[in-house]
Amino acid sequence: MNIASLMYHDVVTAGRPDDSGFPGPAAAHYKLDEQDFAAHLARLANSGQRFVRVDASPWATGDACLTFDDGGASAVRIAGSLSEHGMAGHFLITTSRVDTPGFTSAAQLRAIDDAGHVVGSHSHTHPAEISRLSHAALDAEWCESVDRLRQVLGHDVRVASVPGGFYSRAVAQAAAAAGIRYLFTSEPTVATQRVDDCLILGRYTLWRGMSPAHALALARGTDALRQRQWLTWNLKKPLKRGLRPLYHFVRREWLNAR
Ligand SMILES: [Zn+2]
Repeated sequence: MNIASLMYHDVVTAGRPDDSGFPGPAAAHYKLDEQDFAAHLARLANSGQRFVRVDASPWATGDACLTFDDGGASAVRIAGSLSEHGMAGHFLITTSRVDTPGFTSAAQLRAIDDAGHVVGSHSHTHPAEISRLSHAALDAEWCESVDRLRQVLGHDVRVASVPGGFYSRAVAQAAAAAGIRYLFTSEPTVATQRVDDCLILGRYTLWRGMSPAHALALARGTDALRQRQWLTWNLKKPLKRGLRPLYHFVRREWLNAR
């Protein structure tokens, strides 16, 4: 069972990246300006590509998913734009931030849910490296998050994404135990795998500055972009794991220099 998923974050007014989601240059790297995102959506919508809810399986061959991480305040506008184009989105929420400045309110989450989009969890506190937490702390991150969303939405939540892309089998097992049935990672792949009762799905990342054509190519797999993301991700993996302080230093310097 293969499916392509695209990972977006916030959509912001040009020059005001801190208005939605987590502040700072590292987070801003993932935020698209409004005009750019509108161009992405128009290109995706006009392509005939279907964007479906992950929980509406079985998917048809070639279906794709659109996901939006963090739960920044722009989610409600993004959801409105998707609805205009007849697309379903997945909004993965850092639940400890709900009703705080720069993030969605509980009422907005209900509106997004009512409009037919998926509202899911992106952990409770967005830990820096969720894969390094103890089992008890992992259980708390997912259970607290899922409980909060259940209270807000009035129904169970079965979809989530891993914060920061720090996936591990223990992260997935804790999510499954909390009732998550679909867990998006940041692994750039269309392949899925099962951990306990949970389906694990990769995603392709969209950064600011990427063109609408790139987004469509990642959704469709029509050129070498998917392979390039896969190669970059797998080259960085040992660096992330083995040389963590150096990796964070280099990444910070690189982002600050942009
Ligand atoms: Zn995140």
